[in-house]
Amino acid sequence: MSLSSGAPLADPFPPELREQIEELLDAFERDRQAGGKAPITTFLESVPSPWRAAVFGVLLRAECEYLADIGRVPDISAYFDRYPEFHAILREEFRCAEAARDPCLLSARPCRDEIDQPRPSSTESAAAANLAVGAGALRGTRLRRDTSAEPTLCGGAGESPRIAIVGGGWAGLAAAVAAVEQGLRVELFEARSRCGGRAGLTISLASGLEVDFCRHLSLGCCTNWLDLIARTGCTELLSPPEGTYRFVSPAGQVCRFRAGRLPPPLHLWPALFSRTDLSFSTRWSIGSALMRLARSPGRSEQSFAAWLAEHGQTPQAIAGFWTPVVISALGDDIEHVSQAAARQVFVDGLLASAEAGRMVFARRTMSEVIQTVVRWLETKNVPIHHGTVVQSAQPDETGVVLRTGSGDKRFDYAVSAVPWWQVEKLVCFPSPSAEREKARAILRRAAELPVGTVAAVHLTYRRHWARAAHAVLIDRVGQWFFAEAADPAAPGVSAAFAPPAQSVEYSVPSSCIVAGRGEESSRKRVGCYQVVISGLHRLGDLSDAELTAKVRSELAAIWPEAAEAGFLDARVARHQRAVFVMAPGVDRDRPKAAAINDRLLLAGDWTDSGWPATMEGAVRSGRLAVEAILGHLGRTASLLSPELPRGLLFRLLLG
Ligand SMILES: Cc1cc2nc3c(=O)[nH]c(=O)nc-3n(C[C@H](O)[C@H](O)[C@H](O)COP(=O)(O)OP(=O)(O)OC[C@H]3O[C@@H](n4cnc5c(N)ncnc54)[C@H](O)[C@@H]3O)c2cc1C
Repeated sequence: MSLSSGAPLADPFPPELREQIEELLDAFERDRQAGGKAPITTFLESVPSPWRAAVFGVLLRAECEYLADIGRVPDISAYFDRYPEFHAILREEFRCAEAARDPCLLSARPCRDEIDQPRPSSTESAAAANLAVGAGALRGTRLRRDTSAEPTLCGGAGESPRIAIVGGGWAGLAAAVAAVEQGLRVELFEARSRCGGRAGLTISLASGLEVDFCRHLSLGCCTNWLDLIARTGCTELLSPPEGTYRFVSPAGQVCRFRAGRLPPPLHLWPALFSRTDLSFSTRWSIGSALMRLARSPGRSEQSFAAWLAEHGQTPQAIAGFWTPVVISALGDDIEHVSQAAARQVFVDGLLASAEAGRMVFARRTMSEVIQTVVRWLETKNVPIHHGTVVQSAQPDETGVVLRTGSGDKRFDYAVSAVPWWQVEKLVCFPSPSAEREKARAILRRAAELPVGTVAAVHLTYRRHWARAAHAVLIDRVGQWFFAEAADPAAPGVSAAFAPPAQSVEYSVPSSCIVAGRGEESSRKRVGCYQVVISGLHRLGDLSDAELTAKVRSELAAIWPEAAEAGFLDARVARHQRAVFVMAPGVDRDRPKAAAINDRLLLAGDWTDSGWPATMEGAVRSGRLAVEAILGHLGRTASLLSPELPRGLLFRLLLG
């Protein structure tokens, strides 16, 4: 077995030591490559004593990752017997008790993102802390198994299994990345000319600017999506996490809602009490209902409206707080979503930790982020068949046959990552069998999942007028207002792009300059905005013109400057099946990855990912499908990222 270098070392060390560590890692790699088993401590002899524990941590993690990668459980308890205090420190540093019990978990991503400087000290506890710092410094697997010479698990001699992924939305892309990282051979089939699915759609504005069909928002609690972003080198394409929500009351009053310094779950109380558009008693009643929601179990059969009524929430509390959050997160109103789904939004997404609710957007477009993931896959030699509709996927005992316009192709496994309304016609069991009947029943129920429509009204004005990059609109047709990020490279947008003068509050530049007819002087700056309407189906049959008129007049009522900015153009983007709705009881109809077959796995935001219809849910589902494949191959692996750790006070108060 040979080894090859992988992820680099993060940099908490002084430069001269860093160089030495790199050399040690090389020596360590050579030793393991030659089948050596020299104890880690033998590599530490040349390391100056104050730094030994930290370097020990680096090598320990490399050892754990290497052993895990070749499918062995590292027996390193001997190291720990010598330093029992490491157990306590590791538990503290990695915020997971398992790390102390099972040091192999060091190979998982440490819960802490920032790496402190190791403290040069000879005391044992500082050494123990330094070990954890060192272990955290080695990101990802440095020593990777070279799978090219591995024996066949299934498929042709000497080859690793071949996996087909059908659908290039977030679920399919996440499955492809996870499978590649596990050494499987992957081919991806996407019906459209570009990957991205629902999150990758774009629309061209009158100015020529290409923007997201509908702005996608992610949160700090979306640990799997963020992890995928980091693994595929997309972090720079996202805006820095932002914690301030601007709630705009019907009267135009702007209340900033951001986590305070108190530990969770109290961090939201100051924000809640700054909502002066709500009466004091309403704020108090919302706060105490939030605490009760955290304490109560998730009830997937009960509507959230029923739960709020049970807990005395007034119409003002519902309209001013619960409804806008529920509709924008879950795509429908409180009557139509389950208490369990709403609980997940408020408790996991807001209350459990201060980072959970931090918003993340694509700096320019989500499509750009997705194309970067696609390029990452291409660099790993994954064939991506754009514009290829898979007509059927037919599983049997040893694999799956995919039918496309250019013929049939056999794979060891396939992951269906198509939406719920397309999966029934994709999956094919030709002969009658109990398995076919079971699959049909599962897919029929999935096809009937309740759907939520989402629309974005894109407005272009002669002048830029907004004072904020985004805002939550209360008691309005739309729930989110966004100023558009301009893409200087977009056709029609001048290379002389500059953010507007009023960009003080902006995390993204928010207007674009449209090239005039060749004359520098005729270039004009326009303001591009979108208002996102989740749960559009609740509003009845509004035409594009009616919707635009409503949105424009609401914006002008809130911000009079909008009325004076010179309206130029509107485009309405609607997605009739944007999301499935987390209605009471819907969880019963969301199948697990291996629900219909061991060779043909199901993925997609609609499957049983533990999350609602979001990019995070989609990524989780893709990873779960690959976990199921590995399980079938006899390899156990946990591919989901750890959730954000819950604060101590939260655990003490709310369990
Ligand atoms: C308007 C709108 C706004 C949203 N806002 C947010 C948001 O703010 N935050 C958030 O987290 N989520 C949001 N979502 C939800 C999010 O976009 C989805 O949950 C997620 O993108 C679903 O990913 P997926 O891979 O499961 O499915 P999809 O994105 O639907 O991907 C499925 C892919 O399969 C392909 N396909 C289908 N059939 C075949 C076939 N036979 N052969 C080959 N390929 C096929 C499709 O072309 C598509 O690319 C929004 C969705 C919409 C539509």
